[in-house]
Amino acid sequence: MIIYLDNNATTRLAPEALDAMLPFLRESFGNAGSGHVLGHLSEGAVVQSRDQVAAMLGCSPAEVLFNSGGTEGINHALRGVFEAFPGKRHFIISAVEHPAVMAVCDWLKRKEAEITILGVDGEGQLDLAALEASIRPDTALVSLMAANNESGVLFPLEKAAQIVKGKGTLLHVDATQAIGKAALDLMHLPIDLLNFSGHKVHGPKGTGAMFIRRGLRLKPFMLGGKQERGRRGGTENVPGIVGLGKACELAMAHLPRLAAISGMRDRLELAVQSGIHGVRINGAGSARLPNTSFLSFKGLEGEALLLKLSERGVCVSTGSACATGQKEPSHVLRAMGVPIEYAMGTIRISLSRYTTLEEVQTVSEMLPGIVESLRTAGPYSRA
Ligand code: PLP
Repeated sequence: MIIYLDNNATTRLAPEALDAMLPFLRESFGNAGSGHVLGHLSEGAVVQSRDQVAAMLGCSPAEVLFNSGGTEGINHALRGVFEAFPGKRHFIISAVEHPAVMAVCDWLKRKEAEITILGVDGEGQLDLAALEASIRPDTALVSLMAANNESGVLFPLEKAAQIVKGKGTLLHVDATQAIGKAALDLMHLPIDLLNFSGHKVHGPKGTGAMFIRRGLRLKPFMLGGKQERGRRGGTENVPGIVGLGKACELAMAHLPRLAAISGMRDRLELAVQSGIHGVRINGAGSARLPNTSFLSFKGLEGEALLLKLSERGVCVSTGSACATGQKEPSHVLRAMGVPIEYAMGTIRISLSRYTTLEEVQTVSEMLPGIVESLRTAGPYSRA
């Protein structure tokens, strides 16, 4: 039996999304750019998916670009702005951004850009006054995540957008974790660029989309054909795009279920707090994603806890999936100032709309015994 509680790493494909994709993997295999009947079928499907993504985001379909996921969207946004605005060489990010943002900023630094990294407080929250103070006339872009992949902490995007746009600066939002788990309406959120991945929202892996506000000058990511208005050349991944569109439509329909998901998450946290001493729930003092619990247990190793749970069929994560195998606390835990004796024993539990109360109860009952046995075996022991 598998209990899958690692939905911030990836999610299972929604059966409805798979059903929508299958015809485009079988008989409807035409190139969306072809002038014949099979091409038209594929083109129509891409148009429909673009409408579905736009409806979820609250933007125009012409502002949606299909790509391969969050990492590509981040690269496109930051590098695209860097190339389009050669007179502006200052970028602002937060200390808890995804490693993709950090890696692109390292690349930008090598290209003589200056990067300001804004710290967060103990609850993972951004200092809006520091954000305001850091914006300069030569700031090309502010890039902030909507929700943190490890802690689930939500940044106050509306206030941040007011500040950034008030200074006439471009704002990019990495919404990879927020899509489907928090309401986002670009009609009322004056941001310029946004990216997300299909596989975090029960769509297929290797798919994603980006919002590029109408009129924004952004350099193309991939030079090639005229696909995606010349911003990303290459034959469209029609089955993937169809699955992504369906996943977005489903995500919207399931938004009312978020309350039930946070209810299960809260029960789990209550059980952990009452059954185990020496626990911290990181980011609990902030507005958080409803599905995420970022738990630090004093005096044990998170990796050992992950393995013990995995032996029992329970899938969780230590920090972000990208940081697995890393022996140090993640950059998010460090930025939040979590004490080392807790930080080393951190796991992330992330639920989805497919998670059941029974699964949460099973894990709640399992955790105290495992934590106790690991602590008895000695701090940072893998026994
Ligand atoms: N941004 C955030 C906040 C993420 O959580 C992730 C994936 O974990 C990404 C970006 C990168 O997405 P992908 O791996 O789908 O390219």
